[in-house]
Amino acid sequence: MQELKGIAVSPGIAIGEALVIDNGGFVISRRAIERGRADEELARLDRAIAVVSGDIERDREAVSERLGPQYGAIFSAHSQMLQDPRLHAELEQLVRDSLLSPEWAVRKTLRRYAQMFQEMTLSHLADRAHDLYDLEARLLEQLLDRRREALADLNAPTIVLAHDLTPSQTARLNRQWVRGFATESGGEGGHTAILAKGLEIPAVVGSGPLLSDVTCGELVIVDGDRGLVIVQPDQLVLDRYRGEAEQQRCHIAALAGFRSLPAQTTDGARIQLMANIEFPDEVAACRDRGADGIGLYRTEFLYLGSDSEPTEEDHYQAYRQVVLAMGDQPVVIRTLDLGADKVVHATRIEDEHNPFLGLRSIRLSLRNVDLFRTQLRAILRASVLGHIELLFPLVTTLKELRQAKLFLRDTMEDLDEAGIAFDRRLRVGMMVEVPAAAMMIDHFLEEVDFISIGTNDLIQYTLAVDRSNKEVAHLYQACNPAVLRLIDATLKAARAAGVPATVCGQMSAIPHQALLLLGLGLTGFSVPLNAILEIKKVCRSVAVDQCQAIAAMAMQMQSSQEIDVYLKEELKKLVPR
Ligand code: PEP
Ligand code: MG
Repeated sequence: MQELKGIAVSPGIAIGEALVIDNGGFVISRRAIERGRADEELARLDRAIAVVSGDIERDREAVSERLGPQYGAIFSAHSQMLQDPRLHAELEQLVRDSLLSPEWAVRKTLRRYAQMFQEMTLSHLADRAHDLYDLEARLLEQLLDRRREALADLNAPTIVLAHDLTPSQTARLNRQWVRGFATESGGEGGHTAILAKGLEIPAVVGSGPLLSDVTCGELVIVDGDRGLVIVQPDQLVLDRYRGEAEQQRCHIAALAGFRSLPAQTTDGARIQLMANIEFPDEVAACRDRGADGIGLYRTEFLYLGSDSEPTEEDHYQAYRQVVLAMGDQPVVIRTLDLGADKVVHATRIEDEHNPFLGLRSIRLSLRNVDLFRTQLRAILRASVLGHIELLFPLVTTLKELRQAKLFLRDTMEDLDEAGIAFDRRLRVGMMVEVPAAAMMIDHFLEEVDFISIGTNDLIQYTLAVDRSNKEVAHLYQACNPAVLRLIDATLKAARAAGVPATVCGQMSAIPHQALLLLGLGLTGFSVPLNAILEIKKVCRSVAVDQCQAIAAMAMQMQSSQEIDVYLKEELKKLVPR
């Protein structure tokens, strides 16, 4: 049994057989070969090594020519590693004596070397591990004839283990079969984590080295509550987790009692509790859990889930499905938030050193006029079918907001000219997720119909912490007093201006933080599907003045740790488990 600690990003317990996926999407299982086929398999391995050697030599020549021989030397080192007789002997032994496939032999041997390098404290030696991963990928690419088993093609219950899953890979996970996933890298606020919540798949990210020790088919537990990944659990642990999974099923069943009840505090304040969605087919579950609308529809997943660029009709059909399913309840459609970790081919920018500070979100939409207009047309067309509101993400300056609104007006004029109907009173809002917007909120409030605070980004930009980087995950703190002051000031300004405000970042879905937000006067929450009933329960267990007293106390504290502990204690007193 092996237990690894990572970051819990999507709650729940998943138990199942491992599917190990490497960075490039290769699936390598521990495959045995027949004794009589060893020579043939070794010949296949030799051919792969020869091809890779040729490729490396070509890379060396090209790089030396362009950048100088000192850069070409990187590839000479790769060549030397690949020609190392010890490596060949080990690979041969695994294939000839242990009768394992060349793919498995390459994976096992190169990862073992890489791990040895990684454990060395001298950084230039630790860096050699990357060279070995690179070699491994090249060899596997040859051996597998570039075949990659698509994650979408699963047909049995599975726990996916990967070094990293991009948001687009996560978006394609087959929800029918993927019971949970764990990744070696990644952080709490990243989009992969958000997707896991949306898909209601228990998940742990940032576990550190994991893949080298797991074989496809081995039993794995993903504990999405404590952030644990347990490989080959012993019987005692397995029984304990099976028991806990059963208890969770009961807890979820008990929360079902809140489905048809409104999110109303004990002193009668009606809270608007809406849902965050990424895919149209999530709306049925939103309705089932009694959400008051869709507070955030992350439309970029329309791009991330498909290979080709969505057409206006693709957009329209997706919005139509959501708005019709929600009846007269509001559906807040956010325009594309592509870029940073949510990249698609059409918008990929090479060599962005700091993608989270780069051409992402509304900046990217304003640069890709066709992309933006296509989406705005579809939203406007769908706006006659129900109650749609439009939300611009990552607005930083007034100029950006004005440009985006200008595009919207232009698009409205185009539709008018073409005689296509749309809702002329469409409400337009902006996300507050950059400190600059929070600081200038009084001016923004004069130009929008509503605001939605995106705490996931607001935290990362206020604290200068990459939300998807596990190395700084401990510094990503929602309850940091600086973050809380920005939220507090934004909510106060919105109230004074009479502009409705919602929080759609993850903070609103975490019970003790929701308590604080209620105390700061928030009346609009938008949370992932799996948090709707839990937050409804919090709302129905507290009075606003209780929350206000708690918030007043918390706002005097100086550290996020202190605030977190305090809020959790207050939650325990007010909301029975
Ligand atoms: C946020 O930043 O809080 C937010 C809701 O947007 P996203 O997580 O999609 O960046
Ligand atoms: Mg955001």
